[in-house]
Amino acid sequence: MTGLKQLIKDKARQLGFFLAGATLPNPPPHYSTFEHWLAQGHHGNMNYLATEKARVRRANPREILPECKSILVLATPYDSPLPLGEGLGVRAGVRVASYARAEDYHNIIPARMEELVRFIEEQVQRPIKNRYYTDTGPILERDLAQRAGIGWIGKNSCLINPKQGSYFFISEIFLDLELEPDTPFVTDHCGTCTRCITACPTDCILPNRTLDATRCISYLTIELKDDIPVELREKIGNWVFGCDICQMVCPWNRFAPEGDPAFLDKEPLPPPTGELTLTPQAFNQRFKRTPVSRAKRRGYLRNVAVALGNTGDTHALPVLQNALNDDEPMIRNHAQWAIEQINKRASEQSL
Ligand code: SF4
Ligand code: SF4
Repeated sequence: MTGLKQLIKDKARQLGFFLAGATLPNPPPHYSTFEHWLAQGHHGNMNYLATEKARVRRANPREILPECKSILVLATPYDSPLPLGEGLGVRAGVRVASYARAEDYHNIIPARMEELVRFIEEQVQRPIKNRYYTDTGPILERDLAQRAGIGWIGKNSCLINPKQGSYFFISEIFLDLELEPDTPFVTDHCGTCTRCITACPTDCILPNRTLDATRCISYLTIELKDDIPVELREKIGNWVFGCDICQMVCPWNRFAPEGDPAFLDKEPLPPPTGELTLTPQAFNQRFKRTPVSRAKRRGYLRNVAVALGNTGDTHALPVLQNALNDDEPMIRNHAQWAIEQINKRASEQSL
């Protein structure tokens, strides 16, 4: 089967999966860490992670596909984030996590996995029972990827490959086909480095390589559907969808390769004042094919209001005043907070 596995990996590379590895569908090695994470409530309001059905499946991949004999883990690179700009003024632009500044990966990667399955079926000349996921199934993806030899789980909780860094999407194909498992990646290349822990604005990186999601900017700006806790708003800076900081400071990303052409985005960062005037139609038009649509307009404009408050820039006051008339109470509340922040800072400076 080694020859077949190599053929599959070569085809995977042609399809844009720049890393690929195989593992057995055995229980993931860090499942107990995940259970502990849930028990601590670090998943916040992501209740879909804690349902009995999802936990049973996460604990044992064979619950997803009983006939599964191997899991192919694949990685697709996205573009590195733009360097952090100077300051937070209204001209500095809002920041969107790099993976989300292009076409939604859910629109692209599944079709590639489907094509890879068809290729495998051609090779073995039989139909293959399969399931494939990219960030959509009850799977401990990084755990399986580590066991498939793709990289190690860094202190920032990301999967890191020593040659490719961590800017990539992880996907899996469950197959009723035996493939020789790759050697698990056992070396921890974080060593004594603590850059990500030091740089994280909300101190949410935990010692066991997990995050307290309830404090992570990615959670606060994407998954959280309600008000952002007041004590965390200033720490969000100008991130309006996700956060890349703990990856940007990671030395293993210094030589990260260019992203897959399907996920390249060269548009300049938009000024935040303009973002706060997006109508529902304009928001849909602009973001319907990108991951930002997940936050919906009410979440995105909430985040933009916070980012504007963090600029401390009085030029942002007119659009914030205007947002006090928005139909959405959450946007109005965060605009009010932003106005107070800017006024507070202005009066501190005048003193
Ligand atoms: S994504 Fe941002 S907030 Fe979340 S752990 Fe990384 S640096 Fe911290
Ligand atoms: S910044 Fe340092 S500690 Fe954090 S994930 Fe990268 S290598 Fe590991």
